Amino acid sequence: MDSSQPALLLPPCRAHKFGGSSLADAERIRHVAGLLLADDAPRQLAVSSAMHGTTNALVALADAATAGGEWRNALDALRQRHRDTARALLEHPDAMLSQVDALCGELAELLQATSLLRQPGRTALERIHGMGEVLSTALLHAHLVERGGDYALLDAREVLVVRHTDLGAVVDWEQSARNLVDWRARHPQTRANITGFVARDEHGLPTTLGRNGSDYSAAIFASLFEADELHIWSDVDGVLSADPRVVPEAVPLAAMSYREACELAYFGAKVIHPQTMTPAIARGLP
Ligand code: ASP
Ligand code: MG
Repeated sequence: MDSSQPALLLPPCRAHKFGGSSLADAERIRHVAGLLLADDAPRQLAVSSAMHGTTNALVALADAATAGGEWRNALDALRQRHRDTARALLEHPDAMLSQVDALCGELAELLQATSLLRQPGRTALERIHGMGEVLSTALLHAHLVERGGDYALLDAREVLVVRHTDLGAVVDWEQSARNLVDWRARHPQTRANITGFVARDEHGLPTTLGRNGSDYSAAIFASLFEADELHIWSDVDGVLSADPRVVPEAVPLAAMSYREACELAYFGAKVIHPQTMTPAIARGLP
């Protein structure tokens, strides 16, 4: 190693991503926190999806409001689920309960506006759709901090800038990297809890990376933070050689190339978001 430039070397960093079923309730979140705290990487990122079913519920809420239908009961159920999780998960849930109420209050305003307008703009819809990640990441973060973890909370809408194109959301790497420098100056912690799925657009408005986009978020943030490894955790045994609903003999693969992963994702394997590989390939990220 070239010892003339040690100051340029960042301590090793491991990025982890947890999907909605891994964060489905207080017990699962506690388990995820245990995995993260057991990882001894000097720097760590944890990118979270929304709690299982939340994004579908938010999409349904926005659709109901757009159609002028009933949405308040479903919003109440969503709020209650996150409040119950906060109570079951946290020793001191009060601040989190207020935050859940505030975020759900914001949702109620957005849904009320949507039901009046009947033709919500993209920004209103994406703000609604992305709220699940804001809630789940705040819950995991509060729990990790209670357990003594050195975590900062990173709302991806503060840092990640994307542009929507026909090929999906394209990252503005330069602007996002500049935003991250500012964010880091304000957050000295060695670890970060990051909201998956959400971002901001070139006008600074909240947006999302598209359904199932939080794998992509994880690859993007792994790249922005110059992580050395990206772990996409799942509650299935791994990537299978074929769709098990079609090919029951499918077996888990021990290893696969980026190319094979891209092909599987492209042809519809739900296990990886098709755009996830691009930042990983660019950095040669295992
Ligand atoms: N929660 C988002 C979705 O359900 C993103 C993700 O989970 O990857 O699409
Ligand atoms: Mg997924």
